[in-house]
Amino acid sequence: MMSWQHRMQQAVMARHEAGRLRQRIVTQHDDARWMVVDGQRYRNFAANDYLGLSHDLRIINAWQQGAERYGVGAGGSGHVTGYSAAHAGLEAQLADWLGYSRALLFISGFAANQAVITALAGRDDRILADKLSHASLLEAARLSPAALRRFAHNQPDSLQRLLTSSIGGETLVVTEGVFSMDGDRAPLAALQQLTRDAKGWLMVDDAHGIGVTGAQGRGSCWQQQVKPELLIVTFGKAVGVSGAAVLCDEMSAEYLLQFARHLIYSTAMPPAQAWALQSALVCLQQGDDLRQQLAQNIAYFRRGASALPFRLMDSDSAIQPLIVGDDQHAMALARQLRARGCWVTAIRPPTVPPGTARLRITLNAMHQLADIDVLLESLYAAKSE
Ligand SMILES: *Cc1c(COP(=O)(O)O)cnc(C)c1O
Repeated sequence: MMSWQHRMQQAVMARHEAGRLRQRIVTQHDDARWMVVDGQRYRNFAANDYLGLSHDLRIINAWQQGAERYGVGAGGSGHVTGYSAAHAGLEAQLADWLGYSRALLFISGFAANQAVITALAGRDDRILADKLSHASLLEAARLSPAALRRFAHNQPDSLQRLLTSSIGGETLVVTEGVFSMDGDRAPLAALQQLTRDAKGWLMVDDAHGIGVTGAQGRGSCWQQQVKPELLIVTFGKAVGVSGAAVLCDEMSAEYLLQFARHLIYSTAMPPAQAWALQSALVCLQQGDDLRQQLAQNIAYFRRGASALPFRLMDSDSAIQPLIVGDDQHAMALARQLRARGCWVTAIRPPTVPPGTARLRITLNAMHQLADIDVLLESLYAAKSE
């Protein structure tokens, strides 16, 4: 038997030798447009802060006001004493905005996905998930006693084939609104129809759609006029803060309050944060100018990047991956871009399928056209090196 130390050392070494070691960097200051690392300033093309709200003074002020009013911590789980008026108000605001009976808050999108899937899925059930679903969804499905099958990315036909086999229990179909590593959108209406025909439920994780698509930023489902039984929205991306919620009907909310362990055995999000999120949602709703600026930046980038010798994904979202293929090549390109003052993250397997290492470029409303020009020039220069 190996010792714990030996086992860990072997695993880290193997990662290292595969060229897949993940390393964190310390950012000294960053906002949606700029970030500072080791005293160097870079244009930030790596954040999910699509509207720049993480540094919006209205939301910062609300957080300060919330802290003065409620203190800095919830003091307990929502089932004990941690459920404040700020939490209740935010839940009501979310449900009303997105057209659901109920909303329940979670500390993160990862926790929300784990909680919902593991509370719902039993032994005889099946979870049919898009192959490229986020790790938090697939991991939850694997940890649950239900059977997990994955359908081909964004292909309703593939889902239909899986649905033809019969099953003793219930069916949960899982997808994202906008895919986090590809930037493309799920065909939600087709997926919903198939799911309904099979008497299953649809769960959509709209982490990258909420705030940026649909009227008032209501997200991918609203935009495609689809109402999944379970909608997950997260607040760490376009909302600029952190946290998440599930939108659902009365019965599901009551069930999750009884059985979602992440709600019962974990301290609630700080009430000041819930207070700040109420303000962030108002900023989102009023953020048409920001969404317009973002759309303009995306179009400008895509026009400029179309001549680049990389495969540009079919994405009209803020996520604009350039597929490089080889892991080391993707890492080298990211380094060359950094040398030119642009911070872009190289994404490698296992986060994406082998052979599809990429530069995951994200655009946001704070970028100026001149920033995008610098990025495009750097990409051309890096490619020819
Ligand atoms: C980021 C992300 C999550 C996790 O949300 P956090 O709030 O960051 O934990 C879940 N699902 C998708 C699709 C994501 O992109």
